[in-house]
Amino acid sequence: MSRSVSIFGATGSIGQSTLDLIRRDRGAYRIVALTGGRNVAQLAADAREFSAEIAVTCFDDCLPALREALSGTGIAVAAGAEALIEAADRPADWTMSAIVGAAGLAPGFHALRHGRTLALANKESLVTAGPLLMAEARAHGARILPVDSEHSAVFQALVGEDMAAVERVIITASGGALRDWPLERLAQATVADACAHPNWDMGQRITIDSASMFNKALELIETREFFGIAPDKIDTVIHPQSIVHALVGFNDGALMAHLGAPDMRHAIGYALHWPERRDLPVERIDLAKLATLEFRAADEARFPALALARQVMATGGGAGAVFNAAKEVALDHFIAGRLRFTDMAGLVEATLDAMSREIRLTDAMDSLETVLQTDHLTRVRAEDLANSRQEQTA
Ligand code: NAD
Ligand code: MG
Repeated sequence: MSRSVSIFGATGSIGQSTLDLIRRDRGAYRIVALTGGRNVAQLAADAREFSAEIAVTCFDDCLPALREALSGTGIAVAAGAEALIEAADRPADWTMSAIVGAAGLAPGFHALRHGRTLALANKESLVTAGPLLMAEARAHGARILPVDSEHSAVFQALVGEDMAAVERVIITASGGALRDWPLERLAQATVADACAHPNWDMGQRITIDSASMFNKALELIETREFFGIAPDKIDTVIHPQSIVHALVGFNDGALMAHLGAPDMRHAIGYALHWPERRDLPVERIDLAKLATLEFRAADEARFPALALARQVMATGGGAGAVFNAAKEVALDHFIAGRLRFTDMAGLVEATLDAMSREIRLTDAMDSLETVLQTDHLTRVRAEDLANSRQEQTA
């Protein structure tokens, strides 16, 4: 029998890689919902190719174009945040959560409520609402499978292991596009500079986050939330080759590493076929050809986002939601050329500081609504701070 699948963020980097795997075994899947943004042509082409039940764009103004592109196909079309949630409420055996940013949170939540499997690429879900999301999955007998490469690697290294024997978890970081730049030049880095990732081909936002290590900061928090591991047992190390994705250290001193080519289709495919392993079209590593694997400490002066992640993990409660929203605003401003690369961390820190005076950050987020409200309040505050900084420098 075919498996029913929905893909949120189908037009993005992860979404397209997911469709690439599904395309190779078309008969095994039935596509329920595909969602995207402004890339209506891609969304419509994929919806046609895979005979989706429904195609949803998150932008209302894109609906007429989507409707036109799919007219006569019998494929339903819709637009907007509510439509995304309705699409998530349609039953599907397996749902890929690959929208970028906090916008991916609500659809993932809804998919879990039906007790099905959620393949989670959207790390922001765990950063903003980790305890809630995990509790929601437990309450509905749903399963979350990690798709971030490092977390998939940890997940795989933990198969058959006792969590009580886990001493530490190390997620690797490529260091991003600017890792070898002299520190004093970083302030001049442009969007194009930050987007020139040495190993991974990803969406623009995560690629820039990779250069600033905000991506790794989010992933440290993601590790804490997904695996329930104490922050002092979680660490990161720079590994320029991106071959070792993560390592798990046990109480007998053993360190289990997960190695693989830097190709997201591995982690996506693992989540798609779990608990089985199936053939995947990824490059096989030739160790002799590779010759060296390097590791070095991540310098917290170069990457202030890492220290902020530590602060967020220590605070808990709403700190993750504030951190993520402030980071998204800082990134928007950097992309728009209004904030220097090296000023993103300062804006996030100032926003965390300001928000800690407005709400009790340590309070647990008790509902999805609370998380979304905190996200919203933070964005307003971060915009204010960013604008007042800009006025000062103008
Ligand atoms: P992307 O920018 O390539 O694609 C994002 C998708 O989300 C697109 O389909 C876009 O239309 C949609 N989208 C954007 N804004 C939206 C909004 N406000 N509402 C609804 N939909 C919206 O991003 P990506 O690189 O594929 O990353 C997706 C997620 O997966 C992110 O959370 C990212 O951190 C995570 N992730 C990505 C990679 C990777 O290799 N690309 C690796 C690990 C984790
Ligand atoms: Mg990752």
